[in-house]
Amino acid sequence: MNAARPVAVARRLTALRTDLAALDLDGLVVTHLPNLRYLTGFSGTAGAAVVSGSRCRLVIDFRYETTARALVADLPSDLIEVHLVERTYDDALVDVLRGIGSGKIGIEASSMTVGRFNRLTSALQKPESARGSALLVPTERVVERRRAVKDSSEIDILREAGRRLSEMARRVPGMVREGRTELDIAADIDSAIRQAGFERPAFETIVAGGENGAKPHARPGKRQLRVGDWVVLDFGGIYDGYCVDLTRTLPVGAAGSELSRVASAVLEAHDAAIEAVRPGARPSEIDAAARQVLASHGLADAFGHGTGHGLGLEVHEDPRISKLPGALPDEPVVPGMVFTIEPGAYLPGLGGVRIEDDVLVVESGCEVLTDVPIGF
Ligand code: ZN
Ligand code: ZN
Repeated sequence: MNAARPVAVARRLTALRTDLAALDLDGLVVTHLPNLRYLTGFSGTAGAAVVSGSRCRLVIDFRYETTARALVADLPSDLIEVHLVERTYDDALVDVLRGIGSGKIGIEASSMTVGRFNRLTSALQKPESARGSALLVPTERVVERRRAVKDSSEIDILREAGRRLSEMARRVPGMVREGRTELDIAADIDSAIRQAGFERPAFETIVAGGENGAKPHARPGKRQLRVGDWVVLDFGGIYDGYCVDLTRTLPVGAAGSELSRVASAVLEAHDAAIEAVRPGARPSEIDAAARQVLASHGLADAFGHGTGHGLGLEVHEDPRISKLPGALPDEPVVPGMVFTIEPGAYLPGLGGVRIEDDVLVVESGCEVLTDVPIGF
């Protein structure tokens, strides 16, 4: 991790404590691993943290002891303490929570299973603690809301990731040729992502040719590309923990057919949505900018997903740029948010077109982090 980490960790824990106080909570059990990484810098595949008003205990098992102790040693003293699991993670969490005594402690409801919640709750209620027991209460999106607004160290990483993905993407049109299979091309893209310095692809690369392009989340298969096909290519990488995501749709051979017209409409929708990104715009308004263009081309029913999603430690995170205000907070976007703009149109039996770029909200509007020719 970069040199800004100790400052970032201290600032993020302080921000979390402000949020917990506002929610009238005495602490939070952090079990969602991207949140754990954001708050502590710990990036193992198992772990948890209990953050209270004065302490942050990082609960890890013996596999991560060396890593965790080195990480904590880099931080101001007592900012984070390591608590080693001796039996099970649940036992360790109960030990830490008993140490807090009575109080209202949040859990991350979208990450903790009901089974685990019940086990922890009943263990805490056993009369072994003379100090009274902590009451666990569900919370939603406490850390995620903070994560949606990137700090300067995160923006630096995402800018660099966007630059690297854009450079790598310029090689992709050379991989798209008649006779090649979707799987051949996906393998080439994945290898190019790693060569470009990414840790790994951010998700399973999508290469969808011809009629397969009509399925927004098609998996690459053995279908060979034919002249006249349009191919949806959606790929991304993880760089220093952060995800970037890009889609281009290219014709095989000379572009013709109905899909050329669709491609122009999707590009117009993509540009309209990017134009709508500025501080204060609501996600539903950005989404509507794309949707209205597609509707004006008779493609309203062909666009069945949201216009974009937040990018960061996860490839799909807040904010959601969607037409469904009832299902979302629909809070105005603010500088520092990073998300995709990816309208598409899908015509069953014929194919599909999607164009996706990544944007950063800045005071004057937005900065596009990906810079790749549209290709048609
Ligand atoms: Zn994508
Ligand atoms: Zn995406």
